[in-house]
Amino acid sequence: MNDKEIILAARGLTKSYGTRQAVKGLDLTIIRGECFGFLGPNGAGKTTTIQMILGLVIKDSGELRVFGLTIPHDLRAIKSRLGVVPQNDNLDPDLTVLENLLTYAGYYNLDSARARSRSLELLKFFALDNRRDEVIQHLSGGQRRRLLLARALVHEPELLILDEPTVGLDPQARYLIWQRLKALRDNGLTMLLTSHYMDEVARLADRVLIMDQGRIVAQGEPGRMVTELVGTDVFEIICDEREAASLSALAASCSARAERVTDGLFIYAGHDCPLLEARVRETARWLRRPANLEDLFIQLTGRLLRDS
Ligand code: ATP
Repeated sequence: MNDKEIILAARGLTKSYGTRQAVKGLDLTIIRGECFGFLGPNGAGKTTTIQMILGLVIKDSGELRVFGLTIPHDLRAIKSRLGVVPQNDNLDPDLTVLENLLTYAGYYNLDSARARSRSLELLKFFALDNRRDEVIQHLSGGQRRRLLLARALVHEPELLILDEPTVGLDPQARYLIWQRLKALRDNGLTMLLTSHYMDEVARLADRVLIMDQGRIVAQGEPGRMVTELVGTDVFEIICDEREAASLSALAASCSARAERVTDGLFIYAGHDCPLLEARVRETARWLRRPANLEDLFIQLTGRLLRDS
């Protein structure tokens, strides 16, 4: 990592709200050109961390540097180089699609010719060029989200922060956004992505950090972490208690982990075990699939609701 340029570095970052410790000593490094997935269940401390990066929340202790500059001292300079896609739509409803971009470009002092050419280029990139004179109320959820993305990129930021960029969108709209984010990543844009959609993060992120209750529980390259911590294959079997107990014992003898969830049994296997596989095939309802990031997330953070 030494020869690579560090875009963001947090060391021992903490933040409490009253007696509640939201972030408990976070260390985090983002390298130029990577898409960094920032994951955690509700209340893990992700939003608080992002708000500290944006200067909206003041850290209690620790160090936070972006582009080698410090927060809060150099906040203005840092923010001019950041692009932010908020979860909540804060487009200006009184302006058209193009006017939203031009107004935003004005905040970053782009000259009018550059602002216009950049805006038109981004509208094309996000398949919104046929909507440029439309008022915001006439756009679909997916179009609004694409416009938020275009707006965040108008001043050519060096780090794009994406707070759940596809939440609430239909599969087609999500897919289009994934394609565009992938193109941006392949073009070398550095991204910090928070999302509760594990398939989204698995597609886009080069590295992920999983936090829970204010602390890091794991970080690394997603595919490798899944293989190392979960395994390669997952069997999902619908079965009664007796069958679950017998399969769990067999799984243990193959060094595979079994987990009973309501009327199902999950078996996470790191290598082939013909005996176990033959036994699973005898059950009435089962499937075998590759282990994924969601399995890892659940293994590390549990299945219990966090907002209850
Ligand atoms: P989510 O996925 O639900 O957005 P998160 O990982 O972003 O969760 P945070 O919003 O950072 O988590 O919350 C971390 C903890 O801090 C939670 O326990 C939350 O209730 C608490 N918290 C967040 N903001 C405030 C606030 N302004 N005042 C008091 N407590 C807060």
